[in-house]
Amino acid sequence: MPELAQPIVRLIDEFAKLPGIGRKSAERLAYYVLRVKTEEALALSDAIRAVKLNVHQCKNCYNLSEEDYCPICQDKSRNERQICVVEQPQDLIALEKTGVYHGLYHVLQGRLSPLDKTGPEDLTIAPLIQRVERLIKQSSPNDPEVELIMATNPTVEGDATAGHIVNLLNGKKVKISRLARGIALGAMVEFTNREVLSDAFNERRIVE
Ligand SMILES: [Zn+2]
Repeated sequence: MPELAQPIVRLIDEFAKLPGIGRKSAERLAYYVLRVKTEEALALSDAIRAVKLNVHQCKNCYNLSEEDYCPICQDKSRNERQICVVEQPQDLIALEKTGVYHGLYHVLQGRLSPLDKTGPEDLTIAPLIQRVERLIKQSSPNDPEVELIMATNPTVEGDATAGHIVNLLNGKKVKISRLARGIALGAMVEFTNREVLSDAFNERRIVE
């Protein structure tokens, strides 16, 4: 069998690194790229380049942003004393679509997972704690209490992550709530429909 040209092998190798793409699918994608018009294939590579070069993490909440601070953090009409903690930017998008929340967010960039060797230092937990401490310190006597809404996924790992953060804030002047269990156990915030997510949000329970 004749050997594949090196650039094709390289493209297949790159596709095979994508999540959920096996060797066979990677080959199919590579041959698709070879088949389509040059402009079309280059549009894909340009889109990847643009997203990697122009999209960064917001310096406050770690949401994806084209600027130093994301549009949500820049929106002065939002309540900055409420911070909703989510695992990933897709969860933030899902919650924004419900329209029930007008505070800010904090994107953890994942969840604690011993299996994947993801520890607290791999997530944005330290900046979150600093954020909360800064807010508490800057509070005036008449300000409502700082509220942290834990919207990590209702999975073992999501719960462990929320529990870890709650422990770190033990004794601090902060109200902590957790999304209600409207979301089925093991389901993902990202894929939960708007009504269920709104209910889970509105019926959030205070964590003691
Ligand atoms: Zn932000």
